[in-house]
Amino acid sequence: MAEVLVYVDHADGAVRKPTLELLTLARRIGEPVAVALGAGAADTAAVLAEHGAVKVLTADAPEFTEYLVVPKVDALQAAYEAVSPAAVLVPSSAEGKEIAARLAVRIGSGIITDAVDLEAGDEGPVATQAAFAASFTTKSRVSKGTPVITVKPNSAPVEAAPAARAVEALAVTFGALATGTKVVSRTPRESTGRPELTEAAIVVSGGRGVNGAENFGIIEALADSLGAAVGASRAAVDAGWYPHSNQVGQTGKSVSPQLYIASGISGAIQHRAGMQTSKTIVAINKDAEAPIFDLVDYGVVGDLFSVVPQLTDEIKARKG
Ligand SMILES: Cc1cc2nc3c(=O)[nH]c(=O)nc-3n(C[C@H](O)[C@H](O)[C@H](O)COP(=O)(O)OP(=O)(O)OC[C@H]3O[C@@H](n4cnc5c(N)ncnc54)[C@H](O)[C@@H]3O)c2cc1C
Repeated sequence: MAEVLVYVDHADGAVRKPTLELLTLARRIGEPVAVALGAGAADTAAVLAEHGAVKVLTADAPEFTEYLVVPKVDALQAAYEAVSPAAVLVPSSAEGKEIAARLAVRIGSGIITDAVDLEAGDEGPVATQAAFAASFTTKSRVSKGTPVITVKPNSAPVEAAPAARAVEALAVTFGALATGTKVVSRTPRESTGRPELTEAAIVVSGGRGVNGAENFGIIEALADSLGAAVGASRAAVDAGWYPHSNQVGQTGKSVSPQLYIASGISGAIQHRAGMQTSKTIVAINKDAEAPIFDLVDYGVVGDLFSVVPQLTDEIKARKG
C-alpha cells in the first residue's frame, strides 16, 4: 500500500488534534508515515502509532526553533525523498500552509489548501473544499506531481487504529536559505485556562449583541460553567471587544464542537462558514427573525443579558 506523509503539529511532544484527524484521512488513501520535528518529536510516537502511523520519522535541531519555516521545509522534503509518498498531508494552520506551499514548489507538485474531506480516487486522492463561505463544495485532485494537501481542523473524526510503534531518525541537511530568517524573540500567549478554540468540545460565542468588551464576562462565565472555549463574531472582534484569535468564521477559525452556543450573533453566512458543522447549535437572540435561527437545534428568543446569566446559574446548580 502506498505511503502517505503526515506532517505532525505538536507542542513539545503533545500532538495537536488536527494531526490525529489527518491520520484518519491518510488511512483512507494509504499507510500514514508521520514526520515530527523539533523538541519532543520522539515523544509523539506513541500517540501517532495509536492513531495509525505505521512509522514516525523524527528530527530535532536548533534550526527548527531558532529560524522560521524553511528548516521544516528542508526536513519535510528530506522525508518526501526518503519515502516517495503517494501524498503529503499538512494541517491547514498559517504555518502548515506555508510549509506545504514551499514543499509543493520545490518538488514541482500541485497543492490543494483548506480541504475539508479527502477520499481515495482512481487517479489520486480527491479533496473536498468549501468555497464562498461554504455555499459551494468543490472536489478536486492534483494533476501534477505528488499531491500536497492541507486539511482544515475538525474535518475528520479522530479514530484509534493501533499500529506497531516504529520510530526512525530522519537525516536532514539544511540548505543555505534555512537560516535566512531568525526568530529574535517570543512572547507566550497568556493562558486563559480554557480549551483551545478549534479543539474544544463546547464553544460559547458572543457577537455584536454583547455590546462591549466589559460584557464578555457573562459569555466567559457561561463558557467556564461548561468547560468551554470562548468564540466571537467578527463584529465583536472588529469592535475590539475580544481578540482576533477567538474569531469564528470565514476569516477566523473553523470550529466543529459537540455544542456551539451563539449569543447576540445574527448568523451571517461568513460566521456560519466557521461553525455550521457543529453537532448541536443553540442560539440566544432577541430578534426572532435572526437568520441564525434557521440553523439551530435549540433557539431562545430573548435578551442575552437575562438569558445567559440564568443559564450559567442553572448549569452551575445542576453540576452541584
Ligand atoms: C469577507 C468577509 C469575511 C467575514 N468573515 C467573518 C468571520 O470570519 N466571522 C464573522 O463572524 N463574521 C465575518 N464577517 C462579517 C459578517 O458578514 C457579519 O457582519 C458578522 O458576522 C456580524 O456579526 P454579529 O452577528 O455579531 O453582528 P450583527 O449581525 O450585528 O448581529 C448582532 C445580533 O445580536 C442580536 N442582539 C442584539 N442585542 C441583543 C441582546 N441584548 N440579546 C440577544 N441578542 C441581541 C441582534 O438581534 C442581532 O441578530 C465577514 C464579512 C466579510 C465581508
